[in-house]
Amino acid sequence: MKKYSIGIDLGGTKILAGVIDTETGEIVAFAKKKTQKDNESIPDKIIQCVEKALAEAEIPISQISSLGIGAAGQVDRENGILIAAPNLDCYDVELRKILESKFKVPVFVGNDVEVATIGEITFGNGVGYKNLVCIFVGTGVGSGIVCNGRIYSGATGTAGEIGHIIVHSGGRQCGCGEHGCLEAYASRTAIEKKITGALKKGQKSVISNLMDDSGRIKSRHIQRALELNDDLVFSTVTQASEYLSCGIASVINFFNPELIIIGGGLIEAVDFFYEMTVKKTQAKALGVPSAGTQITRTKLKDYSGIVGAALLEKYYASNKP
Ligand SMILES: [Zn+2]
Repeated sequence: MKKYSIGIDLGGTKILAGVIDTETGEIVAFAKKKTQKDNESIPDKIIQCVEKALAEAEIPISQISSLGIGAAGQVDRENGILIAAPNLDCYDVELRKILESKFKVPVFVGNDVEVATIGEITFGNGVGYKNLVCIFVGTGVGSGIVCNGRIYSGATGTAGEIGHIIVHSGGRQCGCGEHGCLEAYASRTAIEKKITGALKKGQKSVISNLMDDSGRIKSRHIQRALELNDDLVFSTVTQASEYLSCGIASVINFFNPELIIIGGGLIEAVDFFYEMTVKKTQAKALGVPSAGTQITRTKLKDYSGIVGAALLEKYYASNKP
């Protein structure tokens, strides 16, 4: 096997492609493109992104072993198809077929959170642990479960949907159609909605001056508002961490992992959110499992996805999809 592979993180807002040394986890070069939401443009954008990363790395495709993709949605791992990605407005995209005919290297497709978890257990903070859960908080809330050193995908390949644990019966409407899911309270999207709603009702907050022209609230705006002691942002983030800690404490009680790794844009950018969540989780989880569970942040940060995706070929070689 050649030592370089390409890892692609196909997310709701951006595509990230990296040339990765799969022996060391080193990111040789990477490229980024904004995602356009439709079936046709996604493969084209991926191709452009890969070509840019290869040019940046000055490595020809002949030195690349494989191409791996972590996609934000449901995937058919065996056939390399993106079955459904509502955030991308993409359905039944034959990623393997399209990209193999373009690049002439084997293509592997996995779910974004599962792939980021593979990155963390191979080169990140999960090295040396056999039972752990990686939780990612961003546009949504998702998790990857590692059981006895292997990714646990469940009966229908959808295990780890921590974002749809119901933390408030009859509560806020979730994108999945249910009410009171964790994702409807603790994701960046949920926090953004709550803050925007309060601003519309006339509540004052420094965040009005921080957000960009499009009116979007990004994780870094939330961090800055907290540094400026903003009341609205403080109370919204505190409430989100309250719900997130309910979800994580339930995972600790139920699964009894050695380690919980928390990552994703909001966790990486907002220290207070992470610290508060850890404190609340430790207070809520049962004493015995909690004492045996360490909690940490990701080591690979925003790059766990591209590193993990580049490792899909190796991972699937020893763990059949
Ligand atoms: Zn839900």
